[in-house]
Amino acid sequence: MGNPNLTPLEDALAHLLSEARVVTRVETVDLADSLGRVLAENHYVPADVPPADNSAVDGYALRKQDLAENQAIPVSARIPAGEAPKALAPGTAARIFTGSEIPEGADSVVMQERVEVTDTGIVVNAEVTEGQNIRRQGQDLARGDLALAKGTQVRPNEMGLLASMGVARVAVLARLKVAILSTGDELVDPGTPLAPGQIYNSNRYTLLGLLAQAGCEVVLCETLRDQREATLETLLRAAESSDLIITSGGVSVGEEDHVRAVLEESGNLSLWRMAIKPGKPLAFGAIGGTPVLGLPGNPASVLVTFFVVGMPYIRKRQGRSHQNPAGERIPADFSISSTSARREFLRARKETRGSDPVVAAFPNQSSGILSSACWAHGLAVVPENTTVSPGDLVIYYSFAELLS
Ligand code: AMP
Ligand code: MG
Repeated sequence: MGNPNLTPLEDALAHLLSEARVVTRVETVDLADSLGRVLAENHYVPADVPPADNSAVDGYALRKQDLAENQAIPVSARIPAGEAPKALAPGTAARIFTGSEIPEGADSVVMQERVEVTDTGIVVNAEVTEGQNIRRQGQDLARGDLALAKGTQVRPNEMGLLASMGVARVAVLARLKVAILSTGDELVDPGTPLAPGQIYNSNRYTLLGLLAQAGCEVVLCETLRDQREATLETLLRAAESSDLIITSGGVSVGEEDHVRAVLEESGNLSLWRMAIKPGKPLAFGAIGGTPVLGLPGNPASVLVTFFVVGMPYIRKRQGRSHQNPAGERIPADFSISSTSARREFLRARKETRGSDPVVAAFPNQSSGILSSACWAHGLAVVPENTTVSPGDLVIYYSFAELLS
């Protein structure tokens, strides 16, 4: 039975994604600074890559039909990489190196290991196939082809490919500007001694790290007192400078939980309370025209809800064409009996039993236990109202995949 007051994860995600507007600001960066950025336009190949036929090995370029058994063929030229070759004199070979352009008139390259060098030239000791060891012009990228589509996130691989096409400056979507607001009168930043009743603000740092890894720009990072006016004032101020406000805490049902109340009164609250564990009180809405993702306060809930709900939403707003994580199905190395109508995300990690992979879960899954998140490498999913026994297949997402 589902709880009518809790939104199922799929519905919550569908709602957030339908609300997720892609950033429209475009900026141009040096190729060297493009790592992790999202391409704002299609990249068509301006000229063939490689630009000419070239040798795949160190050896000799020749025309296959000039070879006669056991007969030496004179070497008439030497073509280092980087030089424009002259046409090959008929009946001769050219010394050639990996990456050197193939001279006109040659149709094959013989590796130097297959050749005997004599006083009168080279003797080829191997079968030669026409075209062998030649990398063809345009074999990597042909002029006019779509090399990389808009929405591609630039990895080192794409940086190299863009360079191979001669691209020096790249149009990319602006980074998503995010404001982090931690709420709670009990919070103190590390570096200050704790007075009675206080705890350190850990969510702020978890979120700073997550947002940096997600390629967002944190434009504001403040701690909010549990006070209605101050909450409203800071949310409105954050709305002016950011594309997204992420809050932690203050979305539960206590009278000190002002974020949700302020959204309801002065902005809008389109989602509150999700059927997931941890993370039930998650809220989503907007204030001053800026979307607000209200994460729960408990440190492990922040991490889980950011990965499971925040990332798909952020990914879409970043304009990334990337697919959502698929996870892996791996046998469980734990047992859990969930009579809950909430889908549970366990802090987990992949281990091996014998030579087989299994998923182990941290023993204490309380949402206040942040050490579990450092032990874990990912999240294992326990579906609603399900009992998992050791050996049962569960879906496991690594943190790296969830952040990708
Ligand atoms: P709340 O939803 O505001 O009631 O917070 C739930 C729990 O999370 C409480 O125990 C808070 O003290 C704790 N909490 C809230 N915000 C933070 C934070 N930024 N860092 C560490 N713990 C927090
Ligand atoms: Mg609080």
